[in-house]
Amino acid sequence: MSQTRSTARLMDGTALARTTVAEAAASAAEIKRRTGVTPCLATVLVGEDPASVTYVKMKQNRCAKAGIESRHVTLPASVSTAELVAAVTALSDDPAVHGILLQHPVGPHIDERAAFEAISPAKDVDGVTMHSFAAMGFGEPGFVSCTPGGIMRLLDAYDVELSGKHAVVVGRSAILGKPAGMLLLARNATVTYCHSRTVDLAAHVRQADVLVAAVGKPEFIYGADIKPGAVVIDAGYNAGNVGDVDFESAAERASLITPVPGGVGPMTIAVLLAQTVGAAARQLGLDGV
Ligand code: NAP
Repeated sequence: MSQTRSTARLMDGTALARTTVAEAAASAAEIKRRTGVTPCLATVLVGEDPASVTYVKMKQNRCAKAGIESRHVTLPASVSTAELVAAVTALSDDPAVHGILLQHPVGPHIDERAAFEAISPAKDVDGVTMHSFAAMGFGEPGFVSCTPGGIMRLLDAYDVELSGKHAVVVGRSAILGKPAGMLLLARNATVTYCHSRTVDLAAHVRQADVLVAAVGKPEFIYGADIKPGAVVIDAGYNAGNVGDVDFESAAERASLITPVPGGVGPMTIAVLLAQTVGAAARQLGLDGV
C-alpha cells in the first residue's frame, strides 16, 4: 500500500464551528440577560422526507444547546403554495420569531421561490431570499447563504489572503457556488466560475490559488490538477462520506485543505445559529451583541 505524502494543513471545520456556536450561545445569553427575550429560530418542514426530518431535528438540537429557542411548523406534503406562503408569512409577522428556516426541497408542486420570498429579509437567516442575495451582491448588510458564509469564516480563521488571488469555484448553485464566488469577489479575489458546460475544467482548476469544489460528485477533482500550495475548500458531501475532491491526492499538493467530513459541513449550521442570534440582536435593537 502506498503511503500518503500529505503536506497540507487541515482546516478544522469542527473546531471552528464549536467556537462559532459558543460565541453565538454567549450572545444569545447576553440578549436574554438584557431583554428577557430568548432568540428564536422557526423551522418549517413540508412532508416527511427522512433526510429533511433529520436536518431539521439536527438544527433544533443545536439551537437548544446554544440557548436558542426553536419553533417548529410541520405541514403535509400536500400543502399548497398559498398555504405554505401563509404559514411563512405568519412567522415573518410574529415578533417572537427572529429567524426562519424553510427546509427545502419543498416538493415539485410548490412554487419554492414564492415560499422563500415570504420570509422577511430581517429573518432570512438561511440567506435564501432575493433580498439577501442582492444585498450580498451590493455589499450591503444582510444574511448570507450559510454554507458560503461558513467557507468565508474558514478562510478567515486560517488567515488565507484572498486579495488578488485567483479563486476557482466549481459549481454555480444559488445556495452554494454562486454566492461563494460573489463573497470571494467582494474580498478582491479574481473569480472564475466553472460548471457542467465548462470546457477543460482541469485547465481552470490548475490555475486556482483558492479552489472551492461545490459539484456534488464524489472525488471528482484530482490532486494532479491542484496547483501546488493552493487552498482547497471541499464543500461537497456525497454518499460514503466523501467530498468532491480526492482528498489523499489533493492533500499532497495543497497548502490547506478541508477534510470531509469535518470541514465545511459543520460550519453550515454554525453560521445558521450565528445569523439567528444576529437577527435577534438587530430586531431587539442590540446591534453589536
Ligand atoms: P447542485 O445544485 O446540484 O449544483 C451542482 C453544481 O455543479 C452545478 O452548478 C453544476 O453545473 C455543477 N456541475 C455538475 N456537473 C459538473 C461537471 N461535470 N463539471 C463541472 N461542474 C459540474 O449542488 P449544490 O446544492 O450546490 O451542492 C454541491 C455539493 O455541496 C453537494 O455535494 C452537496 O451535498 C454539498 N453541499 C454541502 C453543504 C454543507 O452544508 N456542507 C450544503 C450544501 C451543499 P450546472 O449549473 O451547469 O448544472
